[in-house]
Amino acid sequence: MSAAKAAGADLAEIRIDLLDPAEQPHWLSVFAARVLPVIVTNRASWEGGNAVNDEDARLRSLVLAVKLGVPYVDVELEAAERFREILREQGIPMSATELILSHHNFDRALDADEVARVQERMRGAGADIHKIAMMATSAMHNALVFDTLKNARVPTIMIAMGELGQVSRLAAARFGAFLTFASVTPGEESAPGQVDVRTLMQLYRFRSVALDTPMYGVIGNPVSHSASPATLNAAMSVTGKEGVYFPLKVEADVPKFIREMTARGFAGFSVTIPGKLAAMEAMDQIDDVARRIGAINSVIKRKDGTLKGFNTDWVAALSAVEEKMTGGMKGKRVLCIGAGGAGRALAFGALERGAVHVTIANRTKSKAEALAKDLGGLASGIGLEELTDQNDFDVIMNSTSVGMIPRVDDSPVDKQLFHKGMVVFDAVYNPLKTKMLKEAEEAGCVIVSGLEMFVRQAAVQFENWFPDTEAPLDTMRQVVLKRLGH
Ligand code: NAP
Repeated sequence: MSAAKAAGADLAEIRIDLLDPAEQPHWLSVFAARVLPVIVTNRASWEGGNAVNDEDARLRSLVLAVKLGVPYVDVELEAAERFREILREQGIPMSATELILSHHNFDRALDADEVARVQERMRGAGADIHKIAMMATSAMHNALVFDTLKNARVPTIMIAMGELGQVSRLAAARFGAFLTFASVTPGEESAPGQVDVRTLMQLYRFRSVALDTPMYGVIGNPVSHSASPATLNAAMSVTGKEGVYFPLKVEADVPKFIREMTARGFAGFSVTIPGKLAAMEAMDQIDDVARRIGAINSVIKRKDGTLKGFNTDWVAALSAVEEKMTGGMKGKRVLCIGAGGAGRALAFGALERGAVHVTIANRTKSKAEALAKDLGGLASGIGLEELTDQNDFDVIMNSTSVGMIPRVDDSPVDKQLFHKGMVVFDAVYNPLKTKMLKEAEEAGCVIVSGLEMFVRQAAVQFENWFPDTEAPLDTMRQVVLKRLGH
């Protein structure tokens, strides 16, 4: 409990049922040593808990908590009547304790009617605080949580459990929830989707979030390892911008998710794999180059409420590469390795910036040819194996995942391709210096790491969302380096 307090928690929950079975009767010693106000909970096994004693004995432990004057007890809605009976039998008033009545569904989410019925029953049973926890099976279930919290007339805790519902926990303060739960230390979470107190406070800026704070987030699947929340929250924090940025795991219907979340206070999104194409359907306007690339990675909600999509990947990669060249891309012959999403962005970007010719080399030759066709007359597509040391390029840009951890001894091309003076870029940034970049450096090339692309695409997004403020590139770079263990 001291650790929770030191990390910034206001309240501690004593989960009697999560103590070792032999220890459960001794929860009082935990209570006696409290350094924070407490909620006492002894969750029934029929409601997903671990309580080992019989139902009346379980409820008597909560009645004892009331007798001791704890500020809050959590009782299952279904057990409310029996709990009140035992209070009456023992002549114990609820004068110093507020009653949290809770409802859990670990299998599925409730719909709006079911939530209304549960709330009605909780009101009827005299709850001071309502708590509803339901398993999110879709990211859209967060919308019901946000609406319920926003419209609640009684202090309410509502959680969509699981990674798909994680934002319902992280954004609890934004919607006026009575509280959100966090574990004391990472790895000790008591329910799926929870984070630890320090992460909630520091990374997700819990204390600086108000009811009108603009929200941002990265939509993707997976997103749990994304460096974007750390990078963009740090950027807002050091520049004093009001806003908070969340990871948003979305498995299906990205356009609907974007529309529904924008209607509930999201002011912008980053979009990563696999949503970059689908997200375009939700846009009212798409930036010209992004439309030609066929993918967006950034969304802004404009003042009139309409949505505009951008592609900041190409701007980021090209600006990082051009910074290392005299005369920029103009007139340069460029080799783009890879014809996936990032490959499209790099190839379109190179031509946009004035390259005289772009060769796309890809493992699957037909995809390179198709991309070259989309690019028009200044591009050609070949198979990766067709590259020889006879080819002569000014710039080489890799957008395949070859060389990424754990396969750090792989390179997508033979080192014979490199020569002095060439600029070589690798979109992979873990490791920072891939085998391809090491070999290029040995051959006298100027090298550019994918870290620069990552940091700059986030910086361009930040500046799209906050046009009056320059993105704190150094801070953002440091955050990513720290996450990569440097
Ligand atoms: P994608 O759409 O799935 O495309 C993957 C590309 O890599 C395809 O061209 C694929 O060739 C090729 N490829 C995959 N495995 C290969 C192998 N073993 N040998 C040869 N080629 C292989 O993915 P993406 O979105 O373009 O991302 C690609 C890479 O760029 C990832 O490593 C990603 O992390 C990185 N990236 C970095 C940034 C940044 O900010 N630094 C931004 C975006 C992406 P086939 O067509 O033959 O399958």
